[in-house]
Amino acid sequence: MEGLMMDYQLTLRHILELAHRLHSRKQIVSRTAQGIERCTYGDLYGRVLRLANVLAELGVQPGDRVATLAFNSYRHLELYFAIPCTGAVLHTLNLRLFPHQLEYIINHAEDKIIFVDAPLIPLLEGFRDKLPSVRGFVIMGDGSDTGALTPSHDYETLMDRAAGDYELPDLDENSAAAMCYTSGTTGDPKGVLYSHRALFLHSMAETMANTIGLSEVDTVLVVVPQFHANAWGLPYACAMVGANQVFPGSFMQPHELAQLIQDEKVTVAAGVPTLWIGLHEHLKHKTYDFSNLRVMISGGSAMPRNLIEAFQKEHGVSVLHAWGMTETTPLGTVSRLKSHMTDWPEASRLDVQAKQGVPVPGIELRIVDAEGDPLPWDGETMGEVQVRGPWVVRQYFKTPVSPQSFTDDGWFRTGDVATVDEEGFMCITDRTKDLIKSGGEWISSVALENAIMAHPEVVECAVIALPHSKWQERPLAIAVLTEDARARGRLTKQQIGDFLEGKVASWWKPDDVVFVDELPKTSVGKFNKLALRERFADYELPTA
Ligand code: AMP
Repeated sequence: MEGLMMDYQLTLRHILELAHRLHSRKQIVSRTAQGIERCTYGDLYGRVLRLANVLAELGVQPGDRVATLAFNSYRHLELYFAIPCTGAVLHTLNLRLFPHQLEYIINHAEDKIIFVDAPLIPLLEGFRDKLPSVRGFVIMGDGSDTGALTPSHDYETLMDRAAGDYELPDLDENSAAAMCYTSGTTGDPKGVLYSHRALFLHSMAETMANTIGLSEVDTVLVVVPQFHANAWGLPYACAMVGANQVFPGSFMQPHELAQLIQDEKVTVAAGVPTLWIGLHEHLKHKTYDFSNLRVMISGGSAMPRNLIEAFQKEHGVSVLHAWGMTETTPLGTVSRLKSHMTDWPEASRLDVQAKQGVPVPGIELRIVDAEGDPLPWDGETMGEVQVRGPWVVRQYFKTPVSPQSFTDDGWFRTGDVATVDEEGFMCITDRTKDLIKSGGEWISSVALENAIMAHPEVVECAVIALPHSKWQERPLAIAVLTEDARARGRLTKQQIGDFLEGKVASWWKPDDVVFVDELPKTSVGKFNKLALRERFADYELPTA
């Protein structure tokens, strides 16, 4: 209709230019093999234009997928902007995948060029000759020995040679900007294609005070890998508001992260709970100054309530629990206390924080029953979570739309099971396939894991279902103890059972508890229940 607003395209170029014009002195800090390397958004802008020329020289065309196999760093950030801003598609490869999975994904995406951190060259060498679409490799760092990766180029040599100016094109906001494959613990990984518009709006969502509230005053430690749902979109959101970014590279040990938080005066740190579990253990032995850290964002799997409590009470760091998926760019919900909850008793506040939270503006969420009918938000009824919104996948890349993933009325089926309370706080009880069906009733493996991990001598715990002749399925808990507890001798199943008394229904208590030295993790750092199910497939639960 006449008199409407401009039809302004929401593209990543706008974010890049904001960072350059308004925040050119703000810092990008990378921990690399050389130590701490520093540059600014001003430097980033100049290097992105150079990189755009490099891409042109390499023959990259609009729509081409250009892959990265790299740790978190300023170079990876340059690729985050240069590839999509020239019209190509940034495809971040997960460096923790097995070679056959990488081979499948690269071929499925038909990547043209792969930018590789030099230490990761061996990951690709074994199957170079099985990648017909790949025309070349660009090696980042010391790439003097490129092994079987031919033809290959050195990143910095190309950059030195390239011209420093480039006219970034006006792109349609609905053009493809980036892609990530799901971790694919069941079946083949699936490609999720993000548009410029989705990434732009998602960045704005992360800066809202109601969500993460990222702003120019922040210094963000991006622990979540840049290959995992675009590091949860943080590099783009930080650039949009001019927040400093800190990239740990391959230096992800708890003491290395703690040092970065202290030295760089980090205000926001984001990662999966397994990282925070490790950090918490480390902090028992060494003290750091975390006084600048205003919030630790945890997502990717459920953050145990006792860990939220420990960080808040022992280290004065608030924890913000978030939920999302590769398919949702990824931010979907955030558990921020509402104003009327702030003077609630501590235990009630922690109960809220341990939930995954309310949908962020832009995301619509519902829970449905097996027939697809919406369920009430009463905090008790469990149903499958479905979402829709401007940064939710509509179809997987090169895959027909299937009713397993999408409903007829246009919602994405997450495969997560949750309750939603009257205040709109979602609480994930499980992935559909992880729920334990005991005697016709459901046991939430996530809730049980959380309850067991609250035991002071338990560091990690995963609960899986095992077949049972009478009850159909019963829970088996697999736990890792603290070093001290291990030294003293093992806890018993009885002691865990006693600890759970009054915390969970008595029929939820695991039939057995197995203690292991380490839990297997997925490529994105979650407890790998598939591996546990395989390992304990023949385990016999005690009959009594
Ligand atoms: P990914 O695509 O690898 O990020 O995995 C997405 C899945 O991780 C979701 O479908 C959930 O099952 C799980 N997930 C993400 N965040 C949380 C959370 N805060 N609590 C529990 N599960 C989560």
